[in-house]
Amino acid sequence: MLLVSLGCAKNLVDTEVMCGSLAGGGYVLTNLPESADIMVVNTCCFIADARRESESRILQAVEWRRASSRRRLVVAGCWPQREGDVLRSRFPEIDCLLGLNDVPRIAIHLARLRGAPKSAPAPEIKPASISDAEYLYDHNTPRLQLTAPTYAYVKIAEGCNHRCRFCAIPRIRGRLRSRAPASVVEECRMLLNNGVRELNFIGQDTTAYGRDRGESDGLLRLLDRCEELGGDFWLRLLYTHPRHLTDGLLERLRGGGHLLPYLDLPLQHIDDHVLHRMGRGMGERATRQWLEKIRRICPELAVRTTFIVGYPGETEAAFVKVLELLRTYRFNHVGVFTFSPEPGTAAATDSEGLVEPAVAESRKDLLLTEQQSVSAAINRQRVGSLTAVLVEGRTSEGQWHGRTVRDAPDVDGRVTFTGRGDCMKAGIVKVKITGSDEYDLTGELS
Ligand code: SF4
Repeated sequence: MLLVSLGCAKNLVDTEVMCGSLAGGGYVLTNLPESADIMVVNTCCFIADARRESESRILQAVEWRRASSRRRLVVAGCWPQREGDVLRSRFPEIDCLLGLNDVPRIAIHLARLRGAPKSAPAPEIKPASISDAEYLYDHNTPRLQLTAPTYAYVKIAEGCNHRCRFCAIPRIRGRLRSRAPASVVEECRMLLNNGVRELNFIGQDTTAYGRDRGESDGLLRLLDRCEELGGDFWLRLLYTHPRHLTDGLLERLRGGGHLLPYLDLPLQHIDDHVLHRMGRGMGERATRQWLEKIRRICPELAVRTTFIVGYPGETEAAFVKVLELLRTYRFNHVGVFTFSPEPGTAAATDSEGLVEPAVAESRKDLLLTEQQSVSAAINRQRVGSLTAVLVEGRTSEGQWHGRTVRDAPDVDGRVTFTGRGDCMKAGIVKVKITGSDEYDLTGELS
């Protein structure tokens, strides 16, 4: 059995739950396609680029499937949840489609599939029911950690109640549902007992945690409970929403406890008119006030953000505001997407002020180039410092690699360093930074 996990950390947690279900069902996981008789592709589809990537991996899997009548192909995750019928007609080689509610039951579906005749032609496709997404795992759910042993993702909530006009995610992942605090805390405790040293809280909007139960301070109370967990570990909050920032959260992000001084704050834009058309529920003035406050109250906070360029109505002047913000605010990390008119979203029918794809691409390149020089300058300032690094593994050249508190897994930079002994066992070590580039740092164990 081989699993391919695409997309974001939230999808990776689903893949981990599928692996837990499969391991419990007696399936043996492999990385080698030639050794596998079942391949599962867990897809992502929130924008056109993500669908292209999923499509290319499905096509590779279809080739693999055709090479032997014994092989079976399963496609799971966001894409079947969103467009099961499209996938069924485009890829008749798929033996089984699994939506998001099927994540914990994959072993049961595969047992049925295995019972199907193994001779060609392919068995009739009988997709599992793909109903509205409701599923959310808890601490008792079997799960196989696929990240480095030193860090893990903890999905504290699923779904989203915002209605940003460009976003297909609420239609795919459903409405906000938060896990019980005791379940999250228990999962954290179990992960820490297993040697994890960094917990990364994720969700579509982690700052909305508990609001589906009517709690406005659910996240703060959850963070406080996690601060009581013993041991030397890092807690990182990812995927926040600017509309739900509070003074209380900023206060906790100042550092001093387990919660790291790191803020993942997707802004999407800064121009008032564009923000309004995006339906973000927060305009330019309030956004700038928060940005100013963050710097004033937490000057050491590492801030990551994302922007969408080429949104309908984004004039050249509106775009230049984003470029100026990048230059002056000096975010630690910036991701940039070009607008993708997603079927079923309100923005897909916007016809006023459309931006040519080539113009959007060049705006994206301009932002990324500008950010490269900003982050190169920030990284240069770190040379000579002594910094804590969470160790993730070894490079093929035998050096260690890991991340600082300012760098989240998968999306930010990393530190490569030399050092004797088993740094992996140490988990968090001190590293003297000796070199830097736009994204990464080099150093030596102190
Ligand atoms: S906050 Fe907006 S962009 Fe983020 S998942 Fe919810 S609807 Fe989509």
